[in-house]
Amino acid sequence: MEKQQIHIALPSTGEQEWLATRECFDTGWLTQGPKVAEFERAFAKRHGVRHAIAVTSCTTGLHLVLAAYGIGPGDEVIVPAFTWVATANVVRFCGATPIFVDVDIDTYNIDPTLVAEKVTEKTKAIIPVHLFGHPANIDAIAAVIPEDVIIIEDAACAAGASYKGKYAGTLGLAGVFSFHPRKTITCGEGGMITTNDDALADKLKMMRSHGATVSEEQRHLGAKPHILPDFNVLGYNYRMTDMQGAVGLVQLSKLDAFLEERRYFSQYYREALAQCLWIKTPVEPVAGDHSWQAFVCLVDPQIAPMGRNEIMEELNTRGISTRPGTHAVTELGLYAEHRGCFPNAAFCEANTIALPLHNKMSEKDYSYVVDTILSMVPSKVLN
Ligand SMILES: *Cc1c(COP(=O)(O)O)cnc(C)c1O
Repeated sequence: MEKQQIHIALPSTGEQEWLATRECFDTGWLTQGPKVAEFERAFAKRHGVRHAIAVTSCTTGLHLVLAAYGIGPGDEVIVPAFTWVATANVVRFCGATPIFVDVDIDTYNIDPTLVAEKVTEKTKAIIPVHLFGHPANIDAIAAVIPEDVIIIEDAACAAGASYKGKYAGTLGLAGVFSFHPRKTITCGEGGMITTNDDALADKLKMMRSHGATVSEEQRHLGAKPHILPDFNVLGYNYRMTDMQGAVGLVQLSKLDAFLEERRYFSQYYREALAQCLWIKTPVEPVAGDHSWQAFVCLVDPQIAPMGRNEIMEELNTRGISTRPGTHAVTELGLYAEHRGCFPNAAFCEANTIALPLHNKMSEKDYSYVVDTILSMVPSKVLN
């Protein structure tokens, strides 16, 4: 018999998504078309933003925004040191230089007090990350950067998160979301750029589809589909398929229910694990709503019953999947020249543990995770 395992994350998809996908095969419209357009409209409405532009991933979306804004060689873009590697990589896609800033251990987000010292003449943009769904302190960041430095939010984890009454993705020039299965809503792979800037939106739409002045949907459904458009800018193929759009649309309709359930069980975890001294549960944002894409705790290396990796291994043998929060990008081989320079990021990489949190877990699963952790006795007590 297969061992029961509580997964770190599982997509919550079902019959509705399956049927929505079928519709595309019935009509024969497979690449970006009416379903993507509908998904974009619904996403923009849900997040209170003028434009939502679907792309193939958060990574390509971030790249597209940087490229559309004209970031290139010689430019610098500030990014947090503790994040998914893509946040830094997209800067390099443009030939620009990622400038790392350490994070705040309580929120795991970029530390605004360390940003000013990294700003130079070459700084063109900053990419704050709402890591695990905790909204970054955008006002504190905006206060320490020159006015012409743009803010691009890495909102990969932040569908539904908010900051001072505004949704993530609407706090800077643009925001970019991810629909990877590890995120709260998914369409397999996919991303969404949000912006209130009309000119930028037009440029993004063009650049995601080879730089064509007329979109394929417009052309094929228009009066003269045989007239090919002009191409005036260097574009990419970052188009989302209509099957993904159809799935995304269904997933978006479930977002509020997903968020509510995640909030409920995050609170449950925080209360139930409060008595566990060696594990520090994530804090609630001071000004906004967490979207709880992941529930990432800190293991106190001084009193933990064993090392963080051994804890993950022990939990795994007891049927509970966990993961480190994410990378200290600056400790990876690709960015090895920065190793040792960002102590908080390195500490978070070494000591964070994400507990299972997703919309296919039962109340019993959550209490099993809590009971198992509480049964692991701190080393100080053993001695
Ligand atoms: C998941 C994630 C990404 C990458 O998203 P993709 O859609 O897989 O490209 C980027 N940044 C952060 C913070 C993420 O969590």
